[in-house]
Amino acid sequence: MFTGTLHHPGDPGFEEACFGRIFNARRPSDRTPAAVLEAVCEQDVVEGVRLALERGWQVAVRSGGHSWAAWSVRRDALLIDLGGFREMAYDATTEVVTATPSVKGGDELNPYLGEFGRFFNGGHCPSVGIGGFLLQGGQGWNARGWGWAAENIVAIDVVTAEGELVRADETRNSDLFWAARGAGPGFFGVVTRFHLRTRPLPGHLGHTVHAYPLDLFDEVMTWLHGMHHTVSELVEIVALTQTPPDLDEPVLLVTGVSMTDTPEQAAEALAPLHANPYADRAIFRIEAQPTTLAAQLDNQRAANPEGHRYLVDNAWLTGPADQVVPAIREAFTQHPTRQTFTIWFSMAPLRELPDMAFSLQSEIYCATYVVHDEPERDAELRDWLDGAMAAMRPVTAGQYLGDSDFTVRQLRFMGDEQWLRLQEIRAARDPKGLFAGCLSTGAVTNTNHWEQ
Ligand SMILES: Cc1cc2nc3c(=O)[nH]c(=O)nc-3n(C[C@H](O)[C@H](O)[C@H](O)COP(=O)(O)OP(=O)(O)OC[C@H]3O[C@@H](n4cnc5c(N)ncnc54)[C@H](O)[C@@H]3O)c2cc1C
Repeated sequence: MFTGTLHHPGDPGFEEACFGRIFNARRPSDRTPAAVLEAVCEQDVVEGVRLALERGWQVAVRSGGHSWAAWSVRRDALLIDLGGFREMAYDATTEVVTATPSVKGGDELNPYLGEFGRFFNGGHCPSVGIGGFLLQGGQGWNARGWGWAAENIVAIDVVTAEGELVRADETRNSDLFWAARGAGPGFFGVVTRFHLRTRPLPGHLGHTVHAYPLDLFDEVMTWLHGMHHTVSELVEIVALTQTPPDLDEPVLLVTGVSMTDTPEQAAEALAPLHANPYADRAIFRIEAQPTTLAAQLDNQRAANPEGHRYLVDNAWLTGPADQVVPAIREAFTQHPTRQTFTIWFSMAPLRELPDMAFSLQSEIYCATYVVHDEPERDAELRDWLDGAMAAMRPVTAGQYLGDSDFTVRQLRFMGDEQWLRLQEIRAARDPKGLFAGCLSTGAVTNTNHWEQ
């Protein structure tokens, strides 16, 4: 019946099929799917959805396996794993690339597009699957200037809750198209292909890195807070604290990656970051040096090593520097493990969003990634993370699905109007709740828990 493989509990390959492709080594021990279908083509997905309908199972989906909270593993649901269904095709006349959801943005899609001189703003870490990434908005390379990756979806192919394969775009099944750009794990269909607008490969990548001791955290971040909105939209600006391999202590790195055509444009675009009044106290400085996408992806790989346990949380921040900087201080300066890192990601000046489910953002995105290898420390490290995120509450507008785990903390992740519309579409498209939806303890409310 299937070209791919259906694994049942008790089969020799079942455990591996359930958990083997999950990026986070902290895997769910209390959830087991009813069966796992390793789909290799669209027809497998159609048959899988129909099988679930017959058996009375829910359906969960896995593309790249990078959900931190392992959303794809749902109790008593059929897990449709698209890992073995990998196809890409670029059309030079439309400049649209068609790719299946398990394709990895950095490892696969961009090397392929590079052959045509084209680029897609996929996830920073090269192994992230485009499936889950695009459905939740997709904070790809230079999201600040180029917008959310989901804004570049021109159409999707979807297997619906009735087991029908349909095309959705601005004019056909436009409700599904609207929902797929932001519903994330709350989406009610299996996307089998994305049709994506590409952009020209930037001619020159430049980067600036200033490393500061953490005792300058308040000063440097206050300065950055006041100026990041003035920097060229061709520069991705990230401040982060991490412990570089050759240092014993964490440092604050203020970084800019410019995506221009020439080195001269890069120097001009990055110059405002060099005017940091604390620059003479930096531990080291790299200024407007040429870099490559491959080198940047290697940095991301090194920061997010495979095979480790991750606890992750995040917040959209809003407010003046004298409120935001103290609120984030703990998350940046008190890391509980050597590999932990915290990012401050500029989205300023905020760009207007098109009409799509993704609808909540602010000028600053902040996320902490606690990385470790000791299972017995999970609870203690989670407590630390909860404390660091609680300190941000006064300046928190909500959260981004990509780094969230609703079984631990639920915040607002969409606009109120969009949240209502999404529920209406879901009720019409999936009235019986075939698709497992967001994994959470309790109902998903789209509110900041302290405001309930
Ligand atoms: C190392 C690392 C780096 C990351 N960097 C970034 C980043 O730079 N920017 C960013 O925005 N996010 C980033 N993320 C978060 C990541 O984008 C999300 O976890 C995303 O869900 C991963 O997509 P996936 O397909 O790999 O995950 P999966 O775990 O395979 O999918 C997650 C969920 O999305 C839904 N889904 C996936 N595919 C489909 C489909 N085809 N049809 C229907 N529903 C589907 C399902 O509910 C599924 O459970 C990162 C994550 C990791 C682990």
